[in-house]
Amino acid sequence: MAAFADIALSLPVDRLFTYAVPLELRERVRPGCRVRVPFQSREVGGTCVRVSDARPRFEVRPVLGLVEPDPLFSEAMLRLCGWIARRYGAGFGEVLDAALPFAVRSGGKRRTVAVAFPLLGQIPAEKLVAELEERFPKQARVLRILAEAGEPLELRELQQRAKVGASPVLSLQRRKALEIRKVSPARDPLFSSPVERAPDIRLSAPQEEALRALSAAIAAERHAAFLLFGVTSSGKTEVYLRALADVVRRGRQGIVLVPEIALTPQTVARFRARFARVAVLHSNLTDAERHEQWRAIQQGKADVIIGARSAVFAPAPALGIVIIDEEHEGTFKQQNAPRYDAREVARARARFERALLLLGSATPSLESYQRALSGRLGLLRLPGRVAGGSFPETIVADLGKTVSVPGKPRILSDRLRAAMIERLARGDQVILFLNRRGYATAAICRNCGASIKCPHCAIVLVYHRRIGRIVCHYCGHEGRLPQKCAACGGLFRLAGCGTERVEEEVRQALPEASVARMDSDSMKGRGAHEKVLAEFRRGAVGVLVGTQMIAKGLDFPNVTLVGIVSADATLHLPDYRAAERTFGLISQVAGRAGRGEKGGMVIVQTHEPEHFAIQLALRSEYERFAEIELAGRRKDGYPPFGHLARVIIQGPREAEAERAARALRDLLGEWIADGVTALLGPAPAPIAVINGQYRFHVVAKSRWQSGIRQFVKVVRSQPRPGRRLRILLDVDPLSML
Ligand code: ADP
Ligand code: ZN
Repeated sequence: MAAFADIALSLPVDRLFTYAVPLELRERVRPGCRVRVPFQSREVGGTCVRVSDARPRFEVRPVLGLVEPDPLFSEAMLRLCGWIARRYGAGFGEVLDAALPFAVRSGGKRRTVAVAFPLLGQIPAEKLVAELEERFPKQARVLRILAEAGEPLELRELQQRAKVGASPVLSLQRRKALEIRKVSPARDPLFSSPVERAPDIRLSAPQEEALRALSAAIAAERHAAFLLFGVTSSGKTEVYLRALADVVRRGRQGIVLVPEIALTPQTVARFRARFARVAVLHSNLTDAERHEQWRAIQQGKADVIIGARSAVFAPAPALGIVIIDEEHEGTFKQQNAPRYDAREVARARARFERALLLLGSATPSLESYQRALSGRLGLLRLPGRVAGGSFPETIVADLGKTVSVPGKPRILSDRLRAAMIERLARGDQVILFLNRRGYATAAICRNCGASIKCPHCAIVLVYHRRIGRIVCHYCGHEGRLPQKCAACGGLFRLAGCGTERVEEEVRQALPEASVARMDSDSMKGRGAHEKVLAEFRRGAVGVLVGTQMIAKGLDFPNVTLVGIVSADATLHLPDYRAAERTFGLISQVAGRAGRGEKGGMVIVQTHEPEHFAIQLALRSEYERFAEIELAGRRKDGYPPFGHLARVIIQGPREAEAERAARALRDLLGEWIADGVTALLGPAPAPIAVINGQYRFHVVAKSRWQSGIRQFVKVVRSQPRPGRRLRILLDVDPLSML
């Protein structure tokens, strides 16, 4: 019962605004409620953060109404969102919005389904059935099924079972033998898949040990954080399942975060096999479905919640554990505002709600690994593969030594080709991996060497053969490949290679093999992904070519050969994480080979066969790799030994953007003089223009998180430097491009 409410508006502003709560809303406007309020001359949405009876000293306008009758945020979630806003330099309202599915935020209508309810009239159902039998057999059938079910049935199901259309049901309704009502579904389709029995698995000794540590922490109901470090097939998921069971037994819920592409029916099925009430939040849900899932979770109807990054905000009322599988994956970092990292958010949330955090990986991020080494994360190791599966044989093919036909890049080394032929002949399957879409990475003039750039971005266009066009992977610009070089009139050749070209090369080199390609170009339609995977699983496809989409989370026992077409693509990224990415990639992809009984083989093609990241990845020596890489990071003050943040100033005029970046840099220099925070720039970003926007950045590198906090504060306190300019803030940036 409060007269005033502080509201975080759905606008990119930092401060809260105070509104008066009209008498008729006083009972209902509480912290966590979504409301509509006037702002300037508009009506905007917002979230009530706190209420009070202290009249502000200024004139306030009234709250217009509630979007939903009940609060959408618990106190703990409000606190978490406030923490995110400060940590990542985003508006409070912006964070609250990101934490809610769109349909929930906007108070969208919930889906309803028609349900048939049996009506208990004077005549018992059996008698009525008997009466109807003769002249209205269909009605009799419907009624019998409904009576036998002993509970309301969804209309669609009732009709299906009785094999009738709508009219017999409507006739029964007129007879007052049943009633049809629209209700929101009590159980979402995602809840209703049958629960299989869990297989009888006896945990290995390391699994037991890991579980003991987790169970002790769960029993203590205190916050604790662990890193579960084990190679693919070492039994990590089994440990997740047991820890979850422990949490659920105690009446709490667990959230499992997986990379979006790992969110396959296969993954979900494993959790469903153990838990009856599993909610799944994935990008293919309709708004209405998402809304229902969200509601079900909020009402405590889901014990286990599986989802990608944003599922970290799932409104579980009594959160017991957050599990992050493949925690080293970049997809846990949101790429647009608020640019939060779900791992850090999960850590904060687990702390606020006295829950467990469990990170799992075969190749932990160096941030997590270093935390484990220094004791801030409990380290749980699973050293070998459980199901007896052996490690694949790993081979490096030096692309520098493969003879190339003039004018044609050598895509498959003799080594890889021979291995493919041999494996396919045995009826095995092959995965070829390349993290580049399209056909050729550049069209280069044979005469002057110029390449074709995007007219809107400082980026070379990629040739896509299927659509016969050159495409910008940053802004989506498409054009025809010109006949002649604009500068000198020379002819173009196609250089470099993407997945389309690999597919073509395989078709030429192995005409007998059936090939499928899986990347974001070939996988546009809903369900396309599952379809290709199903065909591959069935064995109808022998060779699967793809980007990172196929690199993880999939389990195909018949795949005995994995080829990494070029490890150099990641190795040469202008990024301090390039070696870590390459190591992780090779390890992950290698994990695809030989998951079954047959021995697997991995062939890595590269121009740098001696590079430590490649060598150590081939030998699965994570610890050694981490030791070398961490030493380098320590020396240079890069994460995990320092913190980074980056601000980009962009605008359509180069000089204007640069001027603003310089001014901001000067201001930052005045405020940040702590001696441990270095400011780099302003400099043009490595991709200096995207979509016609000139980009300049200033990077802060600090030994301490507090240096970054100060940087964020100063940047956020800045008014927008010009109407055409935008400021983008990225704390713990994943990409420096
Ligand atoms: P990861 O998550 O590390 O890749 P999984 O938990 O998926 O490993 O385990 C790989 C396979 O081994 C799965 O089929 C799983 O059911 C099985 N498995 C896990 N633990 C055991 C165990 N202790 N004994 C036998 N099989 C196991
Ligand atoms: Zn472009």
